[in-house]
Amino acid sequence: MHIASRIKTLGTESAFEVLVKARALEAQGKQIIHLEVGEPDFETPARIRNAAKMALDAGYTHYGPAAGLPHVRKAIAEYMSRTRGIPFGQNQVVVTPGGKPIMFFAILACVERSDEVIYPNPGFPIYESVINFVGAKAVPLQLKEENEFRLDVEDLKGLITPKTRMLILNSPHNPTGGILTGDDLRRIAELAVKHDLIVLSDEIYSRILYDGFEHVSIVKFPGMQERTIILDGFSKAYAMTGWRLGFGVMPEELVPVIAQLQINSNSCTASFSQMAGIEALAGPQDDVSKMVAEFKRRREAIVDGLNAIPGFRCLKPLGAFYVFPNIVGTGKQSRVLADHLLHEAGVACLSGTAFGSFGEGYLRFSYANSLENIEKALQKVRAAVRKL
Ligand code: PLP
Repeated sequence: MHIASRIKTLGTESAFEVLVKARALEAQGKQIIHLEVGEPDFETPARIRNAAKMALDAGYTHYGPAAGLPHVRKAIAEYMSRTRGIPFGQNQVVVTPGGKPIMFFAILACVERSDEVIYPNPGFPIYESVINFVGAKAVPLQLKEENEFRLDVEDLKGLITPKTRMLILNSPHNPTGGILTGDDLRRIAELAVKHDLIVLSDEIYSRILYDGFEHVSIVKFPGMQERTIILDGFSKAYAMTGWRLGFGVMPEELVPVIAQLQINSNSCTASFSQMAGIEALAGPQDDVSKMVAEFKRRREAIVDGLNAIPGFRCLKPLGAFYVFPNIVGTGKQSRVLADHLLHEAGVACLSGTAFGSFGEGYLRFSYANSLENIEKALQKVRAAVRKL
């Protein structure tokens, strides 16, 4: 069958590919510890599951408005106003099947072929994929270990040209777990205003922060409300990856455009998933704090364990549930080492290069797995590295 040439410009997310490889090994009887997947290993809290069951029985089984059910948009606007420190109205919200469509829709809606888009590298691979897909120029902004994987504002300044249309931010950050400070964001906001940039702020890990850090969004800085599209959702904070429930919060004038893209693709987000979302945001939040406390214990274990492996050097990340150790000391390329660990140690992780060219020299481990499995994986990785 003919495949249209535009598909060649689309990238992918290798976490899904590694998962397939790992599952194939498991089918042959091999035991694999999964540290490649980017999803909480916890169950969705019972209160949220119950809300969905009630919604199903109450008839939330039909199409809804493209931008989302009005009372769900209202609950999201209230949540965002509470957590971002500035008021949002429900007319600024579009509910989507997961946060990911906001990436696709925002870039499709705002970026011309002749434009440039600056994005973090290493970073979530779909940014670069979609920028290329719309025919724009993808301009990588290297995140450096010596800067704790926060973007360097001076580097950013050097990449902005008259053609720069959009800047993509992601804090807390996948794959490094780094976060941008309030001061970083203030300086980035000044640049965005000065150069009239649209900012796509991926805040999907906003609830997963450690050591007393609180999430700060760029949207609250002067001049940013009219140029910021926030991507957030339920997948990570409430362990709801399979529910496909996320949202974008944006200037009101953009909402009908994003809703139109939704009409042209998904029609709408599943109505009973949306209803469960109201409970997630408005109900008691101790399940989130418990999950984050458990992630924190695992973070200590994996950071200490990796730092004890010869050739590995690992920063302690401040957010999300990933570590991004430097493995240059092993003398191996990231992809080769990731493959070696899968086959030799039975530990699935991702090559840093799955997150862009500046990911060479690193691996990504997700610590969304039990402490017991993490300890086991660390021993196996240690033994496999010794064999190199
Ligand atoms: N943004 C980042 C940085 C992510 O890591 C992910 C998922 O891994 C997403 C967005 C997409 O989340 P969702 O499952 O809600 O579509």
